Amino acid sequence: MSADLDRLEVWFVTGSQELYGEDVLAQVAANSRQVVDGLNGSRRLPVRLVHKPLVATADAITRVCREANASANCIGLVCWMHTFSPAKMWIAGLLALEKPLAHLHTQFNRDLPWATIDMDFMNLNQSAHGDREFGFICTRLRKPRKVVVGHWREADVEDRLAAWMRGAVGVHEMRNLKVARFGDNMRQVAVTEGDKVEAQVRFGVEVNGYAVGDLAARLRDAGDTEVDRLLAEYDQRYAMADCLRPGGPRRAALAYAARTELGLRAFLEEVGATAFTDSFQDLYGLDQLPGIAVQRLMADGYGFGAEGDWKTAALARAMKTMAAGLEGGTSFMEDYTYDLDPAGPKVLGAHMLEICPSLAAGTPSCEIHPLGIGGKDDPVRLVFTAAAGPAINVAMLDLGDRFRMLVNEVEAVEPEQPLPKLPVARAFWTPLPDLKTAAAAWIYAGGPHHMVFSQALASEHIEDFTEMIGVECLFIDRQTQLRQFKHQLRWDGAF
Ligand code: MN
Repeated sequence: MSADLDRLEVWFVTGSQELYGEDVLAQVAANSRQVVDGLNGSRRLPVRLVHKPLVATADAITRVCREANASANCIGLVCWMHTFSPAKMWIAGLLALEKPLAHLHTQFNRDLPWATIDMDFMNLNQSAHGDREFGFICTRLRKPRKVVVGHWREADVEDRLAAWMRGAVGVHEMRNLKVARFGDNMRQVAVTEGDKVEAQVRFGVEVNGYAVGDLAARLRDAGDTEVDRLLAEYDQRYAMADCLRPGGPRRAALAYAARTELGLRAFLEEVGATAFTDSFQDLYGLDQLPGIAVQRLMADGYGFGAEGDWKTAALARAMKTMAAGLEGGTSFMEDYTYDLDPAGPKVLGAHMLEICPSLAAGTPSCEIHPLGIGGKDDPVRLVFTAAAGPAINVAMLDLGDRFRMLVNEVEAVEPEQPLPKLPVARAFWTPLPDLKTAAAAWIYAGGPHHMVFSQALASEHIEDFTEMIGVECLFIDRQTQLRQFKHQLRWDGAF
């Protein structure tokens, strides 16, 4: 279930033209292969680069773009003009290209060979102007792309390409993503609503509803042996509350939670969904609001949104896939309450139950407590505190005429004091640039209370991802000034 980037590939396409003659083109092809081998060998790229034969004619360019569209595993193209490649040759190919594009503006040699440079060298190493010709046609065609500048052996160049690749992974994931919804949105809530047709047009994500009663039936299908095996795994992995241990008075509630995990997992596999939502207002046939089940499915890579929030569920799955192999967790999250001490105002993020244990700093404890709303049995949940360090909060909203994404860079911190009575998983953070500016900017932008909190991804991943899919994205970070941010909202609206 967790994301496997090994089967994905990014094609590396080097452009040229035929007038240089065979010798030069053979050298260009050899050099570009060396660039690809060097980048793959760096181990910094999350997806393998595949070297494609040099393209020196309009037909060859159009062919490779069409092949990229048709390839199930190709998630994008990196283009580089080692020599000059007249860009009218690229028009048909770029117009046809449906996969994400990065423009690597590098050159084969790093240093100027002062003593030996002659006109042969100048003819061979022309990316300084060849890439500008390519850039012009991309701009003229309004082609979204990332431009990465620098020598191909620089770590910085590799990191910029790596971030773009993770963005392309997100695009690929969204285009293959199904969200299963159990129940509708929480009644009367506005921000979790949205246009599901437009979401499928824009992102590719399919959002389908299922009867919670059918899920309840799947719980009954789970065998007692399977439930016992899962209970043993819980006992081994988590710090169990005494009442939930074997023979404890609440053990039956834990068994029900394990049954919920088995049923949910089987249901999602059957319908091919990698993200899901539920609603505490619609649990017909279920005894508990799913807690530990949702948490463990998220830890396995499933996206989740509570109260019917399919936008956040899809985003969580895409971000978990983008983060594959990186340190740090990614979870559904909600701004819950504040510490407004002027010495350092902070946000306590949590939810009723459903925070992903991939964030946990230590071993989660497994506990059972009353929920207070929903009128169901007490749900079992994992309780922990998220690790300290830099993180981002990412949210998606539907403005009616378009989707908007928001990113707030935050610094997660250790809680200042123990929280002996708080029965849910939580994260503490200081938003950048500060709580007052960040919260005001978020609210002016219409940002929701639900979001995806990630310790693994950075703003750059989301920036690249949203540019590829053509969705507005606003950043609230160290540089954000409220007056400027309000102007940006107006400019984006006009755009
Ligand atoms: Mn909520």
